[in-house]
Amino acid sequence: MEFIYLDNNATTMVAPEVKEAMSPWLDVNYGNPSSAYSFGNRVLSAIEQARSQVASLIGAKSEEIIFTSCGTESDNTAIACALNANPLKKHIITTIVEHPAVYKYCVLMESHGYRVSYLPVDTSGRLSMQDLENALLPDTALVSVMYANNETGVVFPIKEIGELLKGTGIIFHTDAVQAVGKIPINVKELNVDMLSLSGHKLHAPKGIGALYVREGLPYYPLIIGGHQENGRRAGTENAASIVGLGKACQLAESLVFKEAAYLAQLRNKIENTLINNLPGSIINGDKENRLPNTTNISFEFIDGEAILMMLDMQNICVSTGSACSSGSSEPSRVLRAMSVPPTAIHGSLRLSLSRYNTTSEIDKATEAVTSIVRKLRAISPF
Ligand code: PLP
Repeated sequence: MEFIYLDNNATTMVAPEVKEAMSPWLDVNYGNPSSAYSFGNRVLSAIEQARSQVASLIGAKSEEIIFTSCGTESDNTAIACALNANPLKKHIITTIVEHPAVYKYCVLMESHGYRVSYLPVDTSGRLSMQDLENALLPDTALVSVMYANNETGVVFPIKEIGELLKGTGIIFHTDAVQAVGKIPINVKELNVDMLSLSGHKLHAPKGIGALYVREGLPYYPLIIGGHQENGRRAGTENAASIVGLGKACQLAESLVFKEAAYLAQLRNKIENTLINNLPGSIINGDKENRLPNTTNISFEFIDGEAILMMLDMQNICVSTGSACSSGSSEPSRVLRAMSVPPTAIHGSLRLSLSRYNTTSEIDKATEAVTSIVRKLRAISPF
């Protein structure tokens, strides 16, 4: 059964080149990288090569990369580390539209005595630098702002925030899980202290991530145990996946400009077709500063979940802006924060593309969405 997979912000296909690079490290080279003999040393060398590939993609030094189990662990580690580094400071600034890996950790910190400012966004999902500046307090320990939003693709002004925070002693973390590999990123130009990334969003396997930690930043590990990762993240290394992440980063570095142009062209085709075919369609999010692969569209007066299910029957995979829980569909925190009108908030779809999507897939998917929305509108009471 062939699927048309348009949900690449949820996860991505493992690239064939990545699978090939991983294969020996799942097979004959199964040594423990901490072992003293050469059978283990060769695994350690492969891990170090992957570290330099990850570093190169984001303009970091190899020593500044720590491998983790996923984007969530990188985010949790970054927040815990920043708070441990500033034990007397009890204020955190983040945004209302962060992924739960940051948002829920900040909520948890409130129960540990921290005050958290959740910055709002405007109707285009943008952050105001003035709001951020106004939120800074003498005891602000950490600013954590995502690089790009997973639901809308809106890209935040990370460089400007880095400039604002320079020399303040406030630790600046960005969750770049959705941005790395999709747009060029150079940590040295951004003045960020920590940056999270995740393998499965850029054609590496699930269960591998990395955290960039600026050289010289005080570091406090979240996972305690053995001496792996230079004592910064305990646990025997997931060598094959680390090699896969390295290969995926190398591929992304060589493809990022060409791929971004290709994806933006496909994404624009989707938007133009649906807007032309379906009056009452609204693009959610800033059209200027956003990821090239993501579109979030609302179709007024209908239910996104119904569109998703009808697309699923045609093996077309997308996601909605609602989280279905206990039978009721609750609009997403992100779309609510953007004040998407009540007539549109339940009818949103997120389509997110990858290098493996083709024009013919886009044509089939837009045709299917058009026909489904028309059918649902015909039976809608509104
Ligand atoms: N941050 C963002 C922005 C994400 O989109 C995701 C996953 O969707 C994560 C963090 C969590 O990454 P992982 O699934 O690797 O834990």
